[in-house]
Amino acid sequence: MDPSPPPGWGDAPAPPRPDSRVLPPAPRSGVPDPPFGATHERPRLRRGPGLQLLAAFAVIAIGLTALGGGLVALQRFVATAPRGNADEHAFLRQGIPPRWNPCAPIHYVVNPGLAPLGSIEDVHEAVRRVSSATGIAFEYDGLSDEIPGRARGTYLPSLYGDRWAPLLIGWVDPQRTDIAFERNGHTAAAVAAPLSPVAVDDVLVSGWVAMNQHDPNPPGFAHPGDQGPVLLHELGHIMGLGHVAAVGEIMEPSGGAVTDFGPGDLEGLRLLGLGQGCLVAPEPGS
Ligand SMILES: [Zn+2]
Repeated sequence: MDPSPPPGWGDAPAPPRPDSRVLPPAPRSGVPDPPFGATHERPRLRRGPGLQLLAAFAVIAIGLTALGGGLVALQRFVATAPRGNADEHAFLRQGIPPRWNPCAPIHYVVNPGLAPLGSIEDVHEAVRRVSSATGIAFEYDGLSDEIPGRARGTYLPSLYGDRWAPLLIGWVDPQRTDIAFERNGHTAAAVAAPLSPVAVDDVLVSGWVAMNQHDPNPPGFAHPGDQGPVLLHELGHIMGLGHVAAVGEIMEPSGGAVTDFGPGDLEGLRLLGLGQGCLVAPEPGS
């Protein structure tokens, strides 16, 4: 079994960009928080501690099934699945965390050109779960041929009109991008970057999620590490969540050993959501 990623993996700051503010890196003690506005990675789940747990579960399940109890095996799996708690959440920045204006819909577009079949359904399902957890409405603006990249701006009127560029979720070839998928010997399943305007750094207005075209994990939400949980993890970053160490949360650096948001993830999303009140979003392009 491969070792789990080292603490702080994927937390390298992005170079300064003209279209978004990059804050100094957070202290690297304790649970690492990625710098706000930096690209951010998620390793393939099969290398993380969650998979080690799953391997143990699989052995238990197989043993019980051999004794004649598929249902018993399933019950044992559920009983031993990691459980998080509401305290297990972190934000991209300490203090008052950056967040979206929860009183306006978050627009998103999808570039599935390099994606496996079923990917658009996974995106919509992941967005639905984020919307449910935050109370924030999302609006699908359709397909896009825009390719995620580190230099993506927050304001792209030639593509999307006079408004903040929608959140872009696209599949990319790691060999043909400036996004760093390889770090410390690990290959990320996806990389995400929430973006704020130049003038206002506490409001998120855009972002992108780059899914690794070559990641071997399949579409769906059936198992930790599948494409659906990867999308949930990256959308957690897009909403303003950072990493936690608990394997019962999907915001564990490797996605934990879960297929959905855990209690801490949900509490963090709630604290970034509609219940916190409206924000005044800056004028597009400012
Ligand atoms: Zn992450």
